[in-house]
Amino acid sequence: MKVAIVGAGIAGGYLAHLLEQKGITPDVYEQSDHGTSCGYRSCGWGAPDATGTFLDRAGLNLHDYLLEPMVTMNFDGLVAKTPLYTLDKPRLIRDLRSGLRIIQHRFTDQEAEEYDVVVDATGISRALLPPCSSDLSLPTLQYRVTVKPRGSRVLGPGVYGNQIPGLGYIWVFPLGRNQYHIGAGGLAFDRYGEILEQFFEDLSPSYSLTRHCSCSGDVRVASPFYSQPFVNTRKRNDGMPQQIIGVGESIGTVSPFTGEGIIYSLECAKILADSWLNEKTYASRVLSRFVWMKKERETLDYLLSDGQVNGPRLRDRWRFYRNARRSGIRLPMLQAFRRMGSLSQWIEGDGHQQLTNSHK
Ligand SMILES: Cc1cc2nc3c(=O)[nH]c(=O)nc-3n(C[C@H](O)[C@H](O)[C@H](O)COP(=O)(O)OP(=O)(O)OC[C@H]3O[C@@H](n4cnc5c(N)ncnc54)[C@H](O)[C@@H]3O)c2cc1C
Repeated sequence: MKVAIVGAGIAGGYLAHLLEQKGITPDVYEQSDHGTSCGYRSCGWGAPDATGTFLDRAGLNLHDYLLEPMVTMNFDGLVAKTPLYTLDKPRLIRDLRSGLRIIQHRFTDQEAEEYDVVVDATGISRALLPPCSSDLSLPTLQYRVTVKPRGSRVLGPGVYGNQIPGLGYIWVFPLGRNQYHIGAGGLAFDRYGEILEQFFEDLSPSYSLTRHCSCSGDVRVASPFYSQPFVNTRKRNDGMPQQIIGVGESIGTVSPFTGEGIIYSLECAKILADSWLNEKTYASRVLSRFVWMKKERETLDYLLSDGQVNGPRLRDRWRFYRNARRSGIRLPMLQAFRRMGSLSQWIEGDGHQQLTNSHK
């Protein structure tokens, strides 16, 4: 059986290792034209320490990739403990790719004819599967910045939803040696540049800032449930059946509230390897493992819906709180209910108005 994995990002690279452990040697196609200065897809590089358990299975050690711990993080003024780090994601992807049979170009229809199974690990492009049943993607803009304190206070990690009119947030992720990823992403809103300029201006009395590069890109926040089908069976030109199977962000394994997709892409790849070629088991395991993503997506739909002016319901606040707990972020419940990211704008009454205005 001939297997191709299209996309050697986190999901595709990791899946290739897991399949090799099962005695399957896939061909891996990677187009690698992200137009970024690091050469990889735009990403904040934040991940929880639980990522290590997945890397162990590929013979990799999380500690080799840790850049900076984010032991405490500022959430709109509320400081909470987290198990998050920034990872040297380019190095991790390079190590995942090493030893694989990588074909460095965009996968073509002609090449597809050679394979019995083709895995769509192409992330946001979802290049091979039919469109998602109900897609939703979140645009972003990010800078890599050197931030030097003018006084003694070092800039800590943070997430600021209050700075965004509507649903979204600004992130400040330290990468070590005074470098940071500072970016913004949000739904139904397109003034990232402006918002980030203001953010930099607000920081400038206390910090000197040097920007090195910028990148932009969308994150699929549709959730797996709304990113079906996961599998498509078709006939090749020679009449033989061929299966296209999605993995990682191509099938929406990203937290809709936070855009966090590294650990979930790894987990999705593991589910696919464990249920290899059993499409029903794969689909039902992905749907049940990530059922919370469906609920988060439904909250986003609700908050974005026309005529919705009342702000988050109890269940939406509970989902934000659960999201933080799932990520190991120790926010006190009442505070979290009031202040989780941009939700506070609805709680304080003017968020929907601002979102509506930003559409005009
Ligand atoms: C600005 C931004 C910030 C983010 N920050 C974080 C964060 O801090 N933490 C976190 O956990 N997640 C973050 N994410 C999400 C995370 O980056 C992704 O969810 C995760 O990388 C998905 O992994 P993947 O392997 O499924 O897809 P990808 O990493 O996108 O990999 C897909 C690969 O497929 C290749 N490809 C695409 N089409 C083809 C083709 N036709 N032929 C050959 N190759 C192809 C691409 O070149 C790419 O290498 C962020 C995303 C963005 C946009």
